[in-house]
Amino acid sequence: MPELPEVETVVRELRPRLVGRRIVAVRASRQRLRLPWSKSWNAVVANRRVLAVHRRGKWILVALEEERFLVVHLGMTGQLTVMPATEPPQSHTHLIFPLDDGAQQLRFRDIRRFGSARVFFEPARLQQFFDDTKLGPEPFELKPGDWQDSLARTHRCLKAVLLDQRVVAGVGNIYADESLFEARLHPARIAETVRKDEAERLRCAIVAVLNRAIAKRGSSIRNYVGGSGLKGDYQDEFRVYGRTDEPCAKCGVPISCIRLAGRSTHFCPRCQKAKLETRN
Ligand SMILES: [Zn+2]
Repeated sequence: MPELPEVETVVRELRPRLVGRRIVAVRASRQRLRLPWSKSWNAVVANRRVLAVHRRGKWILVALEEERFLVVHLGMTGQLTVMPATEPPQSHTHLIFPLDDGAQQLRFRDIRRFGSARVFFEPARLQQFFDDTKLGPEPFELKPGDWQDSLARTHRCLKAVLLDQRVVAGVGNIYADESLFEARLHPARIAETVRKDEAERLRCAIVAVLNRAIAKRGSSIRNYVGGSGLKGDYQDEFRVYGRTDEPCAKCGVPISCIRLAGRSTHFCPRCQKAKLETRN
């Protein structure tokens, strides 16, 4: 599933390809996305110029003229790209937005259809949407004190806390495992037992890992591509994710895989020593 670095890459690559350009029409496939595209939205986005492209958590926000917003979630296999109209749309392309003279198109493709695209008419409704989803702070804006408090308040394990979008937005299975390795913390460690210096080490690790992944344009596993249609390269840099039984790059001990918070969780049993208070 695309996580923050992948969504950020899509946003950064869409920005120069979309901002200032006008969506002139909407073509929707008959297949249902997780949230069906409403025909009434066609008139809302058509003939509106794109003012900005932002990311919030794993959401892509395309701000249009007259305070309208196209909000896209990539789900498991979503791809949001700008492509030349001469390039035939691939199978599973569900939405096509021709731009300006029609030479280029914004396309939303999603093989497994867990993604969604929706429209909001005014900023207050968009804000209400994010309030309702209780989306937590961006990792780059986490305040050390607030983060320590979030960990101190919960009996859950660190892996579960990192996956909780209400605590920190945008981190998923890959970057949770990679951040915990970087911070030398066991994923089953109970959050409330984490010392302040360890919490700060984890906060810095999350930021460092996400920034390195963004610099590599995200990780291409499954069908992820950036907004230009190109794959990312960070999958080659994984230290623990998907490396079960391979030697740890730091100490040579085989990487372990356990199930935590319903997800496969990869860690080095030597570099990320379990403390007494862990929970499987
Ligand atoms: Zn190790």
